[in-house]
Amino acid sequence: MRSGVFIIGGGLAGWRAAEAALAGGARVTLVANGSGNSPDIHALNCPVLPEDSVEQFIEDSLKSGKYRNDRPLVETMCRASLSLKDEFAFDGTVLHPVGSSVPRCVSIRHAIGAIALKQIKERLEGRVKVEKRTVSADDVLTLRAAAPGVQIIIATGGWCGKYDFSTNPSYLKGDGLVMAEALGAALKDVDEAHVQYEPTVRTEGPKRGIPVITTLLYEGARLLTPEGKEFLEDARLDKDELSKAIFGIGGTAMYDLTAVPEEKLRECKMDPAERIIKVAPAPHSSLGGIVIDAKCHALDAEGNIVPGVFACGEVTAGVHGLNRLGGNGGTAAMVFGTIAGREAALELKNDES
Ligand SMILES: Cc1cc2nc3c(=O)[nH]c(=O)nc-3n(C[C@H](O)[C@H](O)[C@H](O)COP(=O)(O)OP(=O)(O)OC[C@H]3O[C@@H](n4cnc5c(N)ncnc54)[C@H](O)[C@@H]3O)c2cc1C
Repeated sequence: MRSGVFIIGGGLAGWRAAEAALAGGARVTLVANGSGNSPDIHALNCPVLPEDSVEQFIEDSLKSGKYRNDRPLVETMCRASLSLKDEFAFDGTVLHPVGSSVPRCVSIRHAIGAIALKQIKERLEGRVKVEKRTVSADDVLTLRAAAPGVQIIIATGGWCGKYDFSTNPSYLKGDGLVMAEALGAALKDVDEAHVQYEPTVRTEGPKRGIPVITTLLYEGARLLTPEGKEFLEDARLDKDELSKAIFGIGGTAMYDLTAVPEEKLRECKMDPAERIIKVAPAPHSSLGGIVIDAKCHALDAEGNIVPGVFACGEVTAGVHGLNRLGGNGGTAAMVFGTIAGREAALELKNDES
């Protein structure tokens, strides 16, 4: 590849970047070693209800992140999320993410991640060069040396796959962070304080590591101690607070779904016969990563743009602060994927003119 856009990552961030870069007239290569976490996205945030607003969405995201978020990134995400309702035929369900002031999680059949990925891939069929392999930092340095005009987009997702008990596949271990540093970009918040735990992850059986959706806490579900006793004064805490509460009782809890209506369980793709599930918090989302600006340029330690390097999705830092609001992982991947692809294609045009 001598010019064009080279994307590492085949989740929603990577494919949205591919679509936007193609729309901007670029030749696109996308390399991935799996499909990442994106096919597991049930629902994502988009303020669709009359009682909701972009401003409320911004405030909920900042509050959830303990006001340690990068505000321009949050504002960009929340404002751009509005266009998602024109792009996707959401099915009318609006779930209430824990920690949010109003219901805001929209979807298509509780599978927006898999459905959106399928739709994008079908639209781009034959127009993107797709390679299935693992990319290393040496590979991107070699590419950079051989083809300095190529715009590189890092969309390699988070790093929670490095933990034994995690909701992520083991190949998501932060390779993109090593690539970014090799190319001169800065990282931030790549410590344990910026690992978000999913509070209610199955601990046993063939589904070990698979989360049980927390929005059920708004549908009558309860969290109990292993002995079956109530321990939460308010179950509608954010994910971080719920995880801390479960660690406070020894690290495991029983998720009691007996009061949840059967149709709600079916909607969430749960087996209605399964009413009591043993759960524990597990590393789920990484909140830190590559430092970017609101156009997804990777920045160096002085805050300067690293020429020709973009990043989007869970590999980046800043948008979620200290705690990601449920539903914002999908929205961030969608929104910043598109921005990264568009800006990388623009950069190519500027270089060529
Ligand atoms: C079980 C589960 C359920 C979730 N549900 C929701 C939800 O309902 N709503 C929500 O908003 N968020 C949810 N999230 C979070 C959400 O899935 C992520 O934030 C989002 O998918 C990140 O998208 P991404 O494109 O940045 O990364 P990913 O989708 O993880 O994609 C990363 C890509 O990079 C590739 N890659 C990584 N390293 C390399 C390498 N060295 N070489 C080549 N390729 C590489 C991977 O193969 C993959 O293609 C969930 C997460 C999990 C684990």
